[in-house]
Amino acid sequence: MELYQKTAGELSALLASKEISAVELAQDVLARTDAVEARVQGYVTVTKDAALAQAKAVDNQRAAGEPLPPLAGVPVAVKDNICTKGILTTCASKMLYNFVPPYNATVADKLAANGLVITGKANMDEFAMGSSCENSAMHPTHNPHGLDHVPGGSSGGSAAVVAAGEAPISLGSDTGGSIRQPASFCGVVGLKPTYGAVSRFGLVAFASSLDQIGPFGRSVEDVALLSDVIIGQDKMDSTSCAAPFGSLHAGLNPDVKGLKIGLPKEYFGAGISEEVRAGVLAAAETYRALGAEVFEISLPLVEYALPIYYILSSAEASSNLARFDGVKYGFRAQGIEDITELYVQSRSQGFGSEVQRRIMLGTYVLSSGYYDAYYKKARAAQRRIKAEFNGAFQKCDVILTPVAPTTAYKIGEKSTDPLEMYAGDVCTVSVNIAGLPAMVQPCGFDAHKMPIGMQLIGPRFGEQRLLNAGLAFEQASGLKNIIAAL
Ligand code: GLN
Repeated sequence: MELYQKTAGELSALLASKEISAVELAQDVLARTDAVEARVQGYVTVTKDAALAQAKAVDNQRAAGEPLPPLAGVPVAVKDNICTKGILTTCASKMLYNFVPPYNATVADKLAANGLVITGKANMDEFAMGSSCENSAMHPTHNPHGLDHVPGGSSGGSAAVVAAGEAPISLGSDTGGSIRQPASFCGVVGLKPTYGAVSRFGLVAFASSLDQIGPFGRSVEDVALLSDVIIGQDKMDSTSCAAPFGSLHAGLNPDVKGLKIGLPKEYFGAGISEEVRAGVLAAAETYRALGAEVFEISLPLVEYALPIYYILSSAEASSNLARFDGVKYGFRAQGIEDITELYVQSRSQGFGSEVQRRIMLGTYVLSSGYYDAYYKKARAAQRRIKAEFNGAFQKCDVILTPVAPTTAYKIGEKSTDPLEMYAGDVCTVSVNIAGLPAMVQPCGFDAHKMPIGMQLIGPRFGEQRLLNAGLAFEQASGLKNIIAAL
């Protein structure tokens, strides 16, 4: 087995026992990237030289006998909306085509402090708006399991590089499903942490009240290891808070006997493909066989989740993206004398059509006369969705659902119909609206050998519960460390 085929947990042990060096490992992963990246196109930037230098530094520390954290020397890819000091950070937008941040996001600092080796910046839908990676201004990313299929989005690059063996683990961000849906489409594990668990400082904001950074890996253990690195309160993000748990990795325990698992009937109804429904229901049977109590619940407000999400997220986006004006940094339209025209042209030429659509929608729902009818009503409905989840967690410990109505579709299949694209987010957005944690992992394959994912949703700060339940299924199903044959 090549090094790039191993999980972060396995690599951590090999590094600690000095059976391999961080440089050897980085070289192996970079060689795999050289071999497959032209087909996958999961990265915007591959940071080869910096990665080798970082790996060398870790090897020197280890040789000097310094005690090192578990993931020291393990390669990691980072979504291109997370600021990395001295490394191009584009958000896959023409608007930031030349933006090199002068500072690190808090999570990037944490990766460095833990000795992780950044392999590059992963492709995404522009400013994290989209579900297929087709909105990238750079290039689309291809699903490693079927290269004519989308990898999902918006963190499609982060999921694809892990599925392709171009990095064992990666970071993405999730505002309405952008970690979970690509994890599902690419057959990897992805965790959207509780809102506030991970600092958003240095994450280019899309919708600040919904955005969360989270990990991808090819095993539940790897997601636990990377979660331990990034979770924690940060004085640079006033919405972050201290998690009421210690190491998630140390707390892993695959015993699900007596665990109460709710299956919300609204998530299994019309619009969900037969293969996805069957795949997730088969996982529910596995849990039953493992001694969990599985029963139907109802979350009727899910019907309103999509409009609530698209109103709130677009409203926040219209405000957050006002800073990109062609003056301070990034793209500037050329040959213009008048300041208003400079704003208009820089924004019209710098933003892609989906980003412009969201800004217009957000500005509309916040404008006087419509604010009460749309924005205020969506906020009120958000409170009801939160209450509905709270009620559900009185009855069950975790909720099991599909991740998306279908498995990965073909590139170009939905890109001309924004509403159809939005409809694909129906199973994921309510988790962000309610600020909850949720984890996705593979539970099977469809007739075309494309991965099917399942979603476990927990109460606030229920991350350990999700990881433990996920580990139990992973062990029972053997669906772990799936690398696409490329
Ligand atoms: N697909 C959703 C959207 O386009 C979610 C995006 C995300 O989570 N960043 O808004």
